Amino acid sequence: MAKPGPITCSFCNRDKKDVKILIAGISGHICDTCISQAYKMISEEGNAENKQKVQQALNLLKPNAIKKYLDEYVIGQDDAKKVLSVAVYNHFKRVAHAGLDKEEIEIEKSNVILVGETGTGKTLLARSIAKLLNVPFCIADATVLTEAGYVGEDVESILTRLLQAADYDVVAAERGIVFIDEIDKIARKSDNPSITRDVSGEGVQQALLKLLEGSAVNVPPQGGRKHPDAKMISVNTKNILFVCGGAFDGIEKKIASRLNTQAVGYSASVSVEEIDKANLLQYVSPQDLKAFGLIPELIGRLPVLTYLKPLDRATLRLILTEPKNALMKQYKHLFKMEGVKLEFENEVLDLIVDKAIEFKLGARGLRGICEAIMVDLMFDIPSDEKAPKNLTITLDYALDKLKNARLTQLQAA
Ligand code: ADP
Repeated sequence: MAKPGPITCSFCNRDKKDVKILIAGISGHICDTCISQAYKMISEEGNAENKQKVQQALNLLKPNAIKKYLDEYVIGQDDAKKVLSVAVYNHFKRVAHAGLDKEEIEIEKSNVILVGETGTGKTLLARSIAKLLNVPFCIADATVLTEAGYVGEDVESILTRLLQAADYDVVAAERGIVFIDEIDKIARKSDNPSITRDVSGEGVQQALLKLLEGSAVNVPPQGGRKHPDAKMISVNTKNILFVCGGAFDGIEKKIASRLNTQAVGYSASVSVEEIDKANLLQYVSPQDLKAFGLIPELIGRLPVLTYLKPLDRATLRLILTEPKNALMKQYKHLFKMEGVKLEFENEVLDLIVDKAIEFKLGARGLRGICEAIMVDLMFDIPSDEKAPKNLTITLDYALDKLKNARLTQLQAA
């Protein structure tokens, strides 16, 4: 009887004793070296395919096209839209060309920081961009973060959310967008280094650096606090775009004092007379963020800085009717599904805006006020067989409903 021959890898012919692992198949064997080479070939092909896809998307999404898309959802805020469109375009250009560029000029990451009062559209901008690009998107709140080892969430939990948004597809998450809200709340508490540790301020800023600059981060799949026994998922943040937003209450004072000192200086870029004092945010600079309490390293990793204007009466009025998914369009659509054509008197829209201003609710409050006016109808119409086919909300009706609505209910909106 013939002796069985030596067991070898069917791909490279190496002998079993010369390899670490040899896996048996139905009619052959494969060694660990061949497995990893094959894996590399497959993933390189996948990368090339991905890059091609990104390149195709880039051709369609020039900065002006991105801005045009944003215009459909966000009213005003032209400066922020422009800056954000360019940042997003460059970001994806960077992703598409990574490793392909023969000149080896590495384009730096263009993380963005948006400064503007609450309810002016910061989240909406980031959300709209993510929708346009069809990439995983998540919102994280900086206020719940604390330095590792203290009560609160580790910064890595931000990436847990992104992973969840991507259905745990790490490759997709690694090209996603993260919006970190209330970044101003982790400002250094005071200029003097104190004896007590600043675990929810500067400590978190330090921890965020690692995420923002682009590195492999171990992420707890379930979020919260890292647990020594939990299995971690490694996520590379190199191609994740971070957009940070904050109201930076009181930063106008810092801007004003900087502008005053600069304006009297020899190299003033804006003269005192030219300064639009009603909207100082438009002059915001990295220096002001530093004066507010962000550490220079963090500011350096958020190189694109822009601002959002406070919303005036005219803008609030437009927000009610103009965006693609404007509130008024939503109500009309809801009623249409019940077979009712809904209209609003113009005075009703003015009233809604007036109330939002009166209660200092901004755009965020519009919804609550509308709900207070509409809730009874939305309750009755579906079961009312004699419901009219055409329904107009009049000023008297709206005033009556708002009179009965509890103020606290509106303020909680
Ligand atoms: P921020 O993140 O600045 O606190 P948001 O983006 O969450 O504010 O805005 C709150 C809500 O107000 C949004 O869901 C949106 O309906 C509305 N809104 C705010 N600003 C605008 C805007 N410029 N255009 C359209 N809608 C807006």
